[in-house]
Amino acid sequence: MARGLKRGGSLKRAGHRSRLERQRLGRIPEDTIQEVRDRADIVALIGRYVELKQSGRNWKGRCPFHEEKTPSFNVNPDRGIFHCFGCQKGGNAITFLVEFENLTFPEAVRSLASDLGIEVPETGGRREDRGEREALYESIETAQRCYRDHLSAPEGKGAREYLQRRGLDDATIDHFGLGFAPDSWDSLVGQLDRARVDRKVSTSAGLIMEGRSKGHYDRLRGRVTFPIADVRGRTIAFGARAMAADQEPKYLNTSESPVYHKRRALYGLHHALEPMRRAGRAIVAEGYFDVIALYRAGLGEAVATCGTALTPDHARDLRRRTANVTLLFDGDQAGQNAMEKALAILLPEGLRVRAVSLPDGQDPDDFLAAQGAEALQNLVDRAPDAIEAVIRRVLLKGCTSPAEKADAVRHVAPLVAAISDPIERSEHARRLAIATGTEPSAVESVIRKVQSGGSAEADESLAQTLTPRASGGEERHLRLIALILTRHPGFVTDEFCSQMQEVLPDSPYKRLALAIADAAAEGWLATEGGIDLGACEAQFEPELVPLLRDVVVDDSMLDQETPASEMLVHLVGRYVAKDLEAREKELKRQMQEPDADLQSLLQERQQLLERKRASVSASS
Ligand SMILES: [Zn+2]
Repeated sequence: MARGLKRGGSLKRAGHRSRLERQRLGRIPEDTIQEVRDRADIVALIGRYVELKQSGRNWKGRCPFHEEKTPSFNVNPDRGIFHCFGCQKGGNAITFLVEFENLTFPEAVRSLASDLGIEVPETGGRREDRGEREALYESIETAQRCYRDHLSAPEGKGAREYLQRRGLDDATIDHFGLGFAPDSWDSLVGQLDRARVDRKVSTSAGLIMEGRSKGHYDRLRGRVTFPIADVRGRTIAFGARAMAADQEPKYLNTSESPVYHKRRALYGLHHALEPMRRAGRAIVAEGYFDVIALYRAGLGEAVATCGTALTPDHARDLRRRTANVTLLFDGDQAGQNAMEKALAILLPEGLRVRAVSLPDGQDPDDFLAAQGAEALQNLVDRAPDAIEAVIRRVLLKGCTSPAEKADAVRHVAPLVAAISDPIERSEHARRLAIATGTEPSAVESVIRKVQSGGSAEADESLAQTLTPRASGGEERHLRLIALILTRHPGFVTDEFCSQMQEVLPDSPYKRLALAIADAAAEGWLATEGGIDLGACEAQFEPELVPLLRDVVVDDSMLDQETPASEMLVHLVGRYVAKDLEAREKELKRQMQEPDADLQSLLQERQQLLERKRASVSASS
């Protein structure tokens, strides 16, 4: 669903002033608003969010406010308005930003004004009245200036050399606004203080953290920083890469805030909008350096997620801008698995997806250095259809015995089932049958099973290895999660943590798992399983300390055949499934109530089903 739908539901016709608009008029002078409205280039503005094609005097595209197949969304540059014939939404450049970006009216006016170089006088002059969001943006912008300054200062020498070694010249560093966070606990804290940024604001922006005793400290230390921007180019967060060889985790982001949501943010999107429109596609890569490498190779339409897997929100965002996505992931097993998960998220949105496969063990950086820009461009341009690529990979593993054929079909079927267009779906089903030498009807039946909500039943054996030998209780599962985390803290992402927080039942082991995740983020746990027990014991709640020792010394897991990552995903996945089940039940109950708001409940149910589908394909 488009974000704009939920809030600000009242429809505004051009020339009519809404209640919200009238309320705010005291602050920004009427003629400034008029000037902004007159001068805003509405085609360019909306074109950042929606793929538009000229048609007579209008520009047409698929409406960002309702789901539609054929474009009925029109933008008229002469009158400076947009209108959708499907859902009747319409307005001007300012109201578009209000509706679509959930900005307040003054935020939208200020945002457009700053693009146009129009000064907005503050009639009230009350600085404390500025919105919370504006204050956040300002503190993040201040941090960005500090990081950039550090990179060109003497303390940034090591970081500069590192970036040079990775092939980045000054112009590229400048284009992406890269910076450096010195290896200090209070460098940024001090600079923000001097710039008179409220510590509460910087904490809420995710830039600094509050320690237990010693006041605030910098979140990013000894790292190269990558500013993450919103679609209009305002910095909303930072990604950061470790500089020291033993520094963990390798990548760390500033935390989520009212202006930064990982499940929506796409790194590089702001720069990629124009190239995306020109190329008619988006490239989704794995990381910040990949996006930069692609840009250096002349492929500016690349974006990456920010320390999380691709989400349905990302997919919908991409779908509004283009119909084609090319996935470019590392050539190793982990990269290929991530590629398949991304594919499962993109297909239901109706995107056509291709997949580049890099030579084993290479990332785009390496490939660019070894083969040059043209070779990388060719690789992307000639990328095969992503499902075809998955089928080929499955066939390589062997597909002769009936069991192997069944495995191959079960592996690919969920992806085929996710294709939204029925004709394309049946065509891919046919190809899967041919490629694996299976009866088409058998393939169709597996696909139907997946579509009706069942899993492909492939993880039955996996489930058995995970069944706890001892008491079989929930505690045992939660303990296992905590245990795996101590061995493989590298699996801990912010997203995974919030998922655990959300779905795991309350228990000391849940608290232990989350405390371990925190310890990993703080660097007290090394990826190879090394653990600073002293530091952990000092920080953990006393109740958790014996549990921690208990899981740290347990080595019963070492002889398991199933990789720990798979187990972890599976274990947490069970709780995710349970959680979704419970929510679905609750929704059904609500729907039977006499005064139920059926439309919004159905909408919620739809989102739930999508999440369910995503979690099924993510854990298979
Ligand atoms: Zn519409």
